[in-house]
Amino acid sequence: MLKPALSRLWRDERTLQFGTVRRHARVVEQVDQGIAAFLELVDGSRDTPELIAAGQGLGLDRPACEGLLASLARGDLLDDAEALEAALGGYPPPRREMLGPDAAALSLVHPEPGEAADVLTARRRTRVEVRGAGRVGAAVAAVLAAGGTGTVTVVDRGRVTGRDCAPAGLPATDVGRLRTTAAREAVHRASGAAGDRPRPAPVGAGPPALVVLAPRDGSAAFTGCAAEAHELMRAGVPHLYVGVLEHLGVVGPLVVPGATACAGCASLTRQDEDPGWPRLLAQLDGPGPGRARTPACDTALATAVAGLAALHTQLYLDGVVPPSVDGWCEISAADGMARRLRLPAHPACGCLWPAAPAPATTAGGRR
Ligand SMILES: [Zn+2]
Repeated sequence: MLKPALSRLWRDERTLQFGTVRRHARVVEQVDQGIAAFLELVDGSRDTPELIAAGQGLGLDRPACEGLLASLARGDLLDDAEALEAALGGYPPPRREMLGPDAAALSLVHPEPGEAADVLTARRRTRVEVRGAGRVGAAVAAVLAAGGTGTVTVVDRGRVTGRDCAPAGLPATDVGRLRTTAAREAVHRASGAAGDRPRPAPVGAGPPALVVLAPRDGSAAFTGCAAEAHELMRAGVPHLYVGVLEHLGVVGPLVVPGATACAGCASLTRQDEDPGWPRLLAQLDGPGPGRARTPACDTALATAVAGLAALHTQLYLDGVVPPSVDGWCEISAADGMARRLRLPAHPACGCLWPAAPAPATTAGGRR
């Protein structure tokens, strides 16, 4: 089928443009009435032989139909309707409709026929863990679930306070409830799944494909969540830092253990710039009196940052390298500007040093 995500605009009486944005826009020239009618038939309801027969019914000959279809394929204008139907087929009707625009977007980012369906199917089999269910974390979890991530688990403790609530995450009616329960329900609602109550989280399902570190105080990208980072680095689990600290929303780094710069690299880089950083960090990372009494978290900024973190997570899991890899993105509540900063691996960190070779087996066969 012609990708339903693309607009159809006439440049003149015989020139039809598919798509508006330059990256996807393609032009079909010399479109007469017969070809225009033929293009209307490429809607996923016919296979190729049926399309050619229908084209012949419109007065086009076989080579013209085949040539046109080949040129549409070369222009990345076609998707595999059957594959998409199979990918969306398991969802109940309202959920299908919800995912329609997401699938349409995927057909442009992953342009080969059937690729969007493959990505959707892979998303559905993926588990992401979000640690922290505050204003940012709960929203990240809900957005991921809405976008088709099959299992989103949220880890936190304590009860919901007013400052955890935001329209994309936990509603104000959840104040006083257990944060994990409230977040699990937010994920369930966002996923459009049937039933009032979420299913219990899968037990023994293996490590998640990615962990989002979103502690409620927003310090994740600054402290690096050292203890958790150590565990995730050792287990080889990719992880993404996200939070709002003071006026700044930060997404990144997204760390792929052993392959990209890590939070330790960021910390050492900060230390190079400010020798006092380790002392500040120790106070920021602990429960001491140095922490902000009311951590700042602009609602619009938290929502933007949560959306960006969810997008980077999806991109990474869908096989695209997002800009938070070997870098991080900042959005400022002071001026609304978004920018990306580069994070080179720090030579003293050791996270990208090659692993030591395994010791040789001795003659007795025991190590
Ligand atoms: Zn490192």
